[in-house]
Amino acid sequence: MYKLFVMLNIALFGPPGAGKGTQSEFLISKYNLFYISTGDLLRKEIAGKTRLGMEAQSSIASGGLVSDEIIVQIIEKTITDNPDSNGFLFDGFPRTYIQAYILEGLMLKLNTSLNCLISLTVPEEESVTRLLNRGKTSGRSDDNETVIRNRLKEYNEKTLPVLQFYRDKGIFEEVNGIDSIENVNLSITEIIQRELSKSLFNIVLFGYPGSGRGSQGKALAKEFGLEYVATGAMLGEEIASHSETGRKITELYENGQLVPDEIVVQLIEKKLADSKGVKGFIFKGFPRTLVQSYILDGLLKKYGSSISKIIEIEVPTLELISRLDERSKTTHCMPYDNSTAKIVKRLQEHETKTVPVIEKYNQLHGVIKINGQGTFGEVFMRISAAMESGVKNLR
Ligand code: AMP
Repeated sequence: MYKLFVMLNIALFGPPGAGKGTQSEFLISKYNLFYISTGDLLRKEIAGKTRLGMEAQSSIASGGLVSDEIIVQIIEKTITDNPDSNGFLFDGFPRTYIQAYILEGLMLKLNTSLNCLISLTVPEEESVTRLLNRGKTSGRSDDNETVIRNRLKEYNEKTLPVLQFYRDKGIFEEVNGIDSIENVNLSITEIIQRELSKSLFNIVLFGYPGSGRGSQGKALAKEFGLEYVATGAMLGEEIASHSETGRKITELYENGQLVPDEIVVQLIEKKLADSKGVKGFIFKGFPRTLVQSYILDGLLKKYGSSISKIIEIEVPTLELISRLDERSKTTHCMPYDNSTAKIVKRLQEHETKTVPVIEKYNQLHGVIKINGQGTFGEVFMRISAAMESGVKNLR
């Protein structure tokens, strides 16, 4: 499975017995999230008679909170062992103000952040009734009245202040936890869908000249409602608009020089800034060099976003040459592919400058390779399926 670089990280909050465990089961299967319940992790440590388990045992038995030092150790290990998940669902963490900071640090380490904290509100007496009921079947020794009262006391004193941390950050959401399971489900789903619609879906489309990335890119952008960003065409538009930058570009072209990254960056930056309210972007012809790959990461980061998927259309070299040669005889002929020498030069440029970029991305995140042979429709279907696979996991 390909990873979505925009992770969905949710913390489910509420007093013991609020229904966090029940709601979590549904959320992890719907959104394919990695579930982290510090309570479960601690019980596992105790069952395994580990050092951490032994240290935590007495606090849990009395209904007190386990020290932040123990929590940071068990949670860090679980998170760093699963960096490729679509995101994390935290249950029972953060439970102290200090743990809220710990979570910030852990998310930062994975180059991501918590989307929101969803708090299930349940009156104290309802919590007690639910936990006593659960105690009849859960087999949990801490589900008895004395310990339950202590757990709630700890909750009020140490855990409730966590909410202010997230209120201040503006990522706090509240759901009425005494509603039916289905209705609580619906309210949580609505919050998550809203979160997801905020994150941009960004595709980088690679392929040799002649692989069809231009025509596929345009069609895919239309199909998925994404903004098509083709730097080659943007440079052309700039020339046509007779702007100051356009004149500079013409001059460079006439002298046979490459357009410097400074100009390309400005154009893309403007495009991103002008595209308010879009769902995401398809980049074609950019990044072309390793330097540009860093630029793209930086530009997207500026918008709180990142690359979602990288796709490469693969076509055998001989077929590329024959396609480009065909095109050179039609009205679609571009000024840069009207001679064999120019065609070969472009293929070489791709080989030496862009292939290393694809290799870098492949090592970092995985590049989805698509067979570019066959009809336009066949290739389009293959790319669409690859694009949808990750999105469906989340939306
Ligand atoms: P839970 O299964 O979330 O109800 O947790 C059961 C018990 O484990 C709690 O009463 C605490 O003693 C301990 N515990 C679980 N998570 C944490 C945490 N994040 N910080 C401190 N103690 C925790």
